[in-house]
Amino acid sequence: MANTVATAEGTGTQQQQWWKQPHRVLLLNLREGDEPLVDAKAVVEDVKRYSGTAFCINGGGIVAFYQTRIKGHRRSEALGERDLLAEIIPEAHRSGLRVLARIDPSCAPSELAAEHPDWFARDREGQYIDVSGNYVTCPNSGYYHGRMVEIVQEIVSTYDADGIWNNQGKFAAWDTDVCYCATCQGMFRQLAGHAIPEEEDWDNPVWRQFNEWRYRRIAAWVQTMHAAIHAVKKEAIFISAIQLAESLETIRPGGWDVDYWVEHQDVIAFECQRRNTAPWWPGIQAKYLAGIAPDKPRWMTVSYFYPWWRLTASPEAENRPWVAQQFANGSNSWLHINGGLSKIFDRRMLAPMQEVFARLERWQEYFRDTHSGAQVAVLFSRYTQDNYGRGDPYGRYMDAVRGYYCALLEAHVPFDVLSDKFIDAARLARYRVLVLPNTACLDDAAVAAITAFVAGGGTVVATYDAARYDAMGELRAEAPLAALLGGQYGERRRKLQSSYGYVAERGDALLQGLGDTDVVPNDGDLLEFTPGPGNTVPLTLIPPVTAHSGATISIPEYSAVKGATDIPVVLHGRHGQGRVVLFTNRMDALFYKYGFADLGRILGNAVLLGLGEQRALVVEAPDYVDVMEQRQPRRRMVHLINFAIGKHLSTGWRHPGRNLVPVDGIVVRVRLDAGQQVREVRAATSEVVLPHHTGGDGWVDVTVPRLDDHEIVVFELA
Ligand SMILES: [Zn+2]
Repeated sequence: MANTVATAEGTGTQQQQWWKQPHRVLLLNLREGDEPLVDAKAVVEDVKRYSGTAFCINGGGIVAFYQTRIKGHRRSEALGERDLLAEIIPEAHRSGLRVLARIDPSCAPSELAAEHPDWFARDREGQYIDVSGNYVTCPNSGYYHGRMVEIVQEIVSTYDADGIWNNQGKFAAWDTDVCYCATCQGMFRQLAGHAIPEEEDWDNPVWRQFNEWRYRRIAAWVQTMHAAIHAVKKEAIFISAIQLAESLETIRPGGWDVDYWVEHQDVIAFECQRRNTAPWWPGIQAKYLAGIAPDKPRWMTVSYFYPWWRLTASPEAENRPWVAQQFANGSNSWLHINGGLSKIFDRRMLAPMQEVFARLERWQEYFRDTHSGAQVAVLFSRYTQDNYGRGDPYGRYMDAVRGYYCALLEAHVPFDVLSDKFIDAARLARYRVLVLPNTACLDDAAVAAITAFVAGGGTVVATYDAARYDAMGELRAEAPLAALLGGQYGERRRKLQSSYGYVAERGDALLQGLGDTDVVPNDGDLLEFTPGPGNTVPLTLIPPVTAHSGATISIPEYSAVKGATDIPVVLHGRHGQGRVVLFTNRMDALFYKYGFADLGRILGNAVLLGLGEQRALVVEAPDYVDVMEQRQPRRRMVHLINFAIGKHLSTGWRHPGRNLVPVDGIVVRVRLDAGQQVREVRAATSEVVLPHHTGGDGWVDVTVPRLDDHEIVVFELA
């Protein structure tokens, strides 16, 4: 294979596993009816036009696009005598391309229910669940754990496929309901001693236990498939679709928690297809994958199209930064094109995406064996998403994560995203600052790691209910952050609409850059807090200024603020060698909701306070430029990504703007580690050398003349 590279220390026969190379993947989803249009040579040529190294093509599951010998595995309508896998895979291999076959276990022909009634999901009344003429299958059943094993083993062994990509391996597939089949009921009762609850009720501990069980059961199936594929072909991989932080209404009932999959996947991958979300969704996902699997290859989809309009191309101004964030955070991109064989199609983005993927090929040495240079980590907690977020996971939790993400993006502070299940003292040791955006639910091990991190010199920045609950959502008897600050929580104040934070300590580091104001806006809920000895309280609460309790507006004549309270909105204090910054309000979520620049600045300042003199990168650019640092042994690479701006319509559907406005004259300042020296600095888009200036203080400055969509400032070290 052209893309299989012998390892330097190998004997000549030992080869590095193909998936550990940088890859550019095409996901070519066929619709039933496309089969006569498929030409193996044309498929391979098409993948090459995108500088692809691998592609994914339909295999089996709901329908087979090959001549399956498995009884009851229905062949696609228009397949006829053809066998697409037999035609395409050898052709691809001759060209050095790897091929993954797509499967889908989510439903099967209803006629199979006569012989295998236990393969199918059941509703509360014990009835089968119909979707598009098929019945939904149960992830605990013999269909997932037996029939799908037969199918993937047939594909991998008969056709020499290089792997399997799975779609919709989940409970409640296609937005159906909880499975109440006898298998599920029996398994859950054995674990919990209870029947599966009839209704979602987050006050019910059995419901929370059931929720956790679903995640574990899907992970058990991923483990089954991974083992089944490796049993017949060691050099084949299994990847299953999953995502983070968006579409919670389907991924939570589906039972998708990638944390439990890591050890059962050779390549860890996220879908990133939805567009009615923030433009930085690829960034948070790629950072999260790097956090849970820093030593594994990581892949992520990028859709050619809009959600729900699979033939309409998404705009170049969105797709360029979408792909750039994946690369900058260490993920390989898969371009998903659906309906490309259709005569009726939107071809406008084909050429731009070919250009972007050609650049990824040219840049692949900047991608190989990199690791993040971030000094800051944001903690993401699925326990909090569910057991605190409950019926309103976005409002109660995710908006805090989103708000802090945006604040750090605007402050140009590179950061990683870690899972609360994967932190310990060793994992945290490389960071200076850990951010807990309303990370309410943490298990004891995470709390211990955080406490040790602060004692050892780290700064924890936390908002609102952070660390106050255990993993399952029960209030802790001891509040860890109050203990670190030496203070105490008081009452919870709610609905503080038209309240303010009062600038009580103008010179405090958290309030730098605010300018000539005594107030910043506040809203929502706040936890009263009595500061500990030596704590600093730069911002205090001015209670709501309203006409009367419950009014949405104040009377102008009576809107004068007579004074502030001493109730902290934010405070900070030392503990051991480190520091804790605690926002008692929901400043991150408020920033996300309202976009008040002051709030983002204060959130950013809290992190800069923690970095202090150790800060290793400063970028002077507009707030919509995203910054990330990746390192190789003799190279530091600062990624600059230009986000689209300028949407003047309020559709309520999507955030991204329409225009990529080039940015001129971005100053990048890097603080060298002890012993590092810079030999040369280049802009990777042109490979032009940029003049650099080395100060006596260990800082190196360069000016990047122009940023279009994505630039890598490459510091070659001597
Ligand atoms: Zn079931």
